[in-house]
Amino acid sequence: PKFVYDFREGNRDLKDLLGGKGANLAEMTNLGLPVPPGFTITTEACRTFLESGEEPPALRDEVSAHLAALESEMGKRLGQADDPLLVSVRSGAKFSMPGMMDTVLNIGLSDASVAGLAAQAGDERFAWDSYRRLIQMFGKTVLDIDGDLFEEALEEVKRAKKAATDVELGADDLKKLVKRYKKIVADGAGREFPQDPREQMDLAVKAVFASWNGDRAKLYRRQERIPHDLGTAVTICSMVFGNLGPDSGTGVAFTRDPASGHQGVYGDYLQNAQGEDVVAGIRNTVALADLESVDKASYEQLMEIMATLENHYLDLCDIEFTIERGKLWMLQTRVGKRTAGAAFRIATQLVDQGLIDEAEALQRVNGAQLAQLMFPRFDEDATVEMIGRGIAASPGAAVGRAVFDSYTAIKWSRSGEKVILIRRETNPDDLDGMIAAEGILTSRGGKTSHAAVVARGMGKTCVCGAEELEVDTKQRRLTMAGGRVVEEGDTVSIDGSSGKVYLGEVPVVPSPVVEYFEGRMHAGADEADELVAAVHRIMAYADRVRRLRVRANADNAEDALRARRFGAQGIGLCRTEHMFLGERREMVEKLILADTDSEREQALKALLPLQKKDFVELFEAMDGLPVTVRLLDPPLHEFLPDITELSVRVALAESREDPNENDLRLLQAVHRLHEQNPMLGLRGVRLGLVIPGLFTMQVRAIAEAVAERKATKGDPRAEIMIPLVGTVQELEIVKDEAEQVISEVEAATGASLKLSLGTMIELPRAALTAGQIAEAAEFFSFGTNDLTQTVWGFSRDDVEASFFTAYLEKGIFGVSPFETIDRDGVGKLVADAVKAGRATRPELKLGVCGEHGGDPESVHFFHDVGLDYVSCSPFRIPVARLEAARAAA
Ligand code: PEP
Ligand code: MG
Repeated sequence: PKFVYDFREGNRDLKDLLGGKGANLAEMTNLGLPVPPGFTITTEACRTFLESGEEPPALRDEVSAHLAALESEMGKRLGQADDPLLVSVRSGAKFSMPGMMDTVLNIGLSDASVAGLAAQAGDERFAWDSYRRLIQMFGKTVLDIDGDLFEEALEEVKRAKKAATDVELGADDLKKLVKRYKKIVADGAGREFPQDPREQMDLAVKAVFASWNGDRAKLYRRQERIPHDLGTAVTICSMVFGNLGPDSGTGVAFTRDPASGHQGVYGDYLQNAQGEDVVAGIRNTVALADLESVDKASYEQLMEIMATLENHYLDLCDIEFTIERGKLWMLQTRVGKRTAGAAFRIATQLVDQGLIDEAEALQRVNGAQLAQLMFPRFDEDATVEMIGRGIAASPGAAVGRAVFDSYTAIKWSRSGEKVILIRRETNPDDLDGMIAAEGILTSRGGKTSHAAVVARGMGKTCVCGAEELEVDTKQRRLTMAGGRVVEEGDTVSIDGSSGKVYLGEVPVVPSPVVEYFEGRMHAGADEADELVAAVHRIMAYADRVRRLRVRANADNAEDALRARRFGAQGIGLCRTEHMFLGERREMVEKLILADTDSEREQALKALLPLQKKDFVELFEAMDGLPVTVRLLDPPLHEFLPDITELSVRVALAESREDPNENDLRLLQAVHRLHEQNPMLGLRGVRLGLVIPGLFTMQVRAIAEAVAERKATKGDPRAEIMIPLVGTVQELEIVKDEAEQVISEVEAATGASLKLSLGTMIELPRAALTAGQIAEAAEFFSFGTNDLTQTVWGFSRDDVEASFFTAYLEKGIFGVSPFETIDRDGVGKLVADAVKAGRATRPELKLGVCGEHGGDPESVHFFHDVGLDYVSCSPFRIPVARLEAARAAA
């Protein structure tokens, strides 16, 4: 295979091979934009290197050929003493992993060529600054030397010179610094800093390859669900310099505001600076708009290029650029990350501009973003003290205790504490802490700083660049403008949508998007809501194209009504056990304790009218839409007191010689019903088969409720569902009994009830014998919670807290199978059961009511296997509607 592509040979569709950066540099080159010449080494070369520890043998020659071509194009050789060609060696994977992998700039500088560069640029300071940066980056990333050593040396030289920033250092200071850096390298790496430019380049390429498997990168991939086997490409690009004086600089730009979606000029610019300076938030940047007064020509050219890119990519693009002595160069572009709100707005704006159609708009947003928009926000009327304001970098309302380092953030969050990570600026080493925190607050850096970019990617609340707050990580405190301090452990609240920082806990209120779904706010009522208007439109597109219907898991009229407002098309799961809580628990207790038939019948008789009332209310709330009522599922012991507590009570009473008759009976019952493995015990259909009258009471309550609703001109559409069935025989017995009861009620009321009877498929045996089960079932609802539990043999109540973290860390799975359906295992059973069920009964209705019904990725799977509906909790209904549409589009 071909391992190296000139920028002119690639295009944006080659991201798998050239990484996002390489592919987009190629695309820009071919668009005729000013991109410094260069070439890209493929991800395939990286994969070979990672697998075998060796670069593919052909790589060296290919690189030599491309380097030779680059040298002849540029008219100078890499590291040529009197006029060196310098290159950057940058990582770039298919998916953007900001700051997670390595980059080395200024490759080609050496003791020999630094003078040549100085002469060519007419600027000695610049040449030595570039050289010290090379040694620093190379030392840290290629030779694995602690980066702080370089930082400390730099700080010392600055202190000696009383220089506030590195710009104030002169050539002689930088020469001294280079000397110190070289010693740090020699001491730390046991070798001299390599003077051979090609050796520098080859080592840097290998280091970039290896950085794919660095801890930071691995953690980031797990977090973002990026596969671990992709590898990174490496782009080698001729250097242009933003640090050649005041007419040079480097910046980052967005074609639209990544927070609001508004079109305009957004970005940061830093004069006389190189590469990572802007993103690292080291010096404070100026707004991009100010570039106009600094360098009008470059500014205008940049605006033109940004328009070209938007029209070409048909989306928000972000850009890195450098101006070298008044000449503009594009160093990177990509379709930019954005906040959830901006994603919705931009999608509809692009439709209005005629750039994309509705189907494409649906692909520009996703359910996770919609879920984010449904989070509560801070109450604007709260009277909590505001102590500062930074840049609204990533929206959300976060409250937690102040911590000043990642280690504490992780430690405290493990013990259940909510924390806000406060740093002067973050760097990739803070990633663990950022994940652990509720939100991130920095005192430096702009919208494109590391903290902002990473937080946005994770959907985490972030306020950055709150400059009036002085962060002292050593003393673990933050000092406000007036001199007051916030200590570690104090509660702070940060608003990632406004940038406001508060001392204390700010109460939260529902999001406007939820208010909209609730019907308390109308699209376009006022400007609050561009966002709501955008959501409204996208949901309308979604409902037009989706095939899957969306139902709710709801057990009471209140939830049912909310679900309806959120767009539910019925109830897919009413768990009747939820109707036996509170005061009614005692009635169930009586049922369990019943010694005689008549005692049992009495207990059931007492429950019947209560159940019936529940159902009448539910059918009324969901009038005209299907409601699947599931008969009692959990083991009965769940309705009895805790065995230990009860034993203690009985023992105490005995010691006082005052035994309580009822407690004694209860304890006997608890012992009788005690199971080692209740999840695999007396529950679901098994209960119905061994507790006479239980299921028939529930069926009667449903049937009578339907009859009552019909009598008052309602339109009840009840479906009766039997849980935990493993064989068709179980279902047949329950079904016969149920039909008997239904016809009794029909005879008594004279109504035709049209009740359908179906089953959950939540045991492997049920899935495997779905063809037989479909003979007795009018519908299947996949109970993927229990199915996942039984297919994997994982206890759904225990594993997430016990060994799942280890499994996730080892990469055994990227996400819990209880969260996202395991396509290969559980999913295969579902797919096969769908086929077998439909083969027996073509009109079989099929749905899912496990937690997966509201999980974006799983919804796509259920669409693919041809279910009729998904059912999920009311709050996830909008997400399911949107994802069902994205799956269909
Ligand atoms: C299931 O098992 O997926 C299900 C929906 O039932 P429950 O969660 O009530 O066991
Ligand atoms: Mg279940």
